Amino acid sequence: MVNYEPGQDRNVAALSNLVMCDGFYKMKNFKEKYMRMALIEAKKAALIDEVPIGCVIVKDNKVISRGFNKRETKKDVTSHAEIEAIRKASKKLGDWQLIDCDLYVTIEPCIMCTGAIIQSRIRNVYYGSEDPKGGGLVSSLKISEIKNLNHYPNIEGGILRDECSNIVKEYFANKRKNKTLG
Ligand SMILES: [Zn+2]
Repeated sequence: MVNYEPGQDRNVAALSNLVMCDGFYKMKNFKEKYMRMALIEAKKAALIDEVPIGCVIVKDNKVISRGFNKRETKKDVTSHAEIEAIRKASKKLGDWQLIDCDLYVTIEPCIMCTGAIIQSRIRNVYYGSEDPKGGGLVSSLKISEIKNLNHYPNIEGGILRDECSNIVKEYFANKRKNKTLG
């Protein structure tokens, strides 16, 4: 349906509506584009038998860092995808503050990673699927309910939700299958 102002030429109204729709789809597409890159990172984690979670950080429409979960490989509890990507982004920018940076991660960040996101002043966080058992943005912890933080990132979830959660479900299903077979 085309909305138009009284007295506005219908063709002009139709055209501006089209431009708005185009803008909307471009917005949606760029989020999906970067989430697909995060999914590629998640797949890299699966290849080395890590829980498949991947992350990319974007600044000025460019990916400045990537990371995937390496907790087992590094025997390091802090080596979640987000922390890996945040470390690399800080190194690249020469700054612990990641102002004007957007983080894309396949699964809602945990409480630890949410802390790092707040501390590093990341602007927008886009996640794929919620983590009801430990998510630090909207699930176990809701940062909107925490008072007096000096930074609150914008949050948007559900970007390629099914793909992001299925890759984790498949990983655990395979693990169980291999356990039964072994
Ligand atoms: Zn985490």
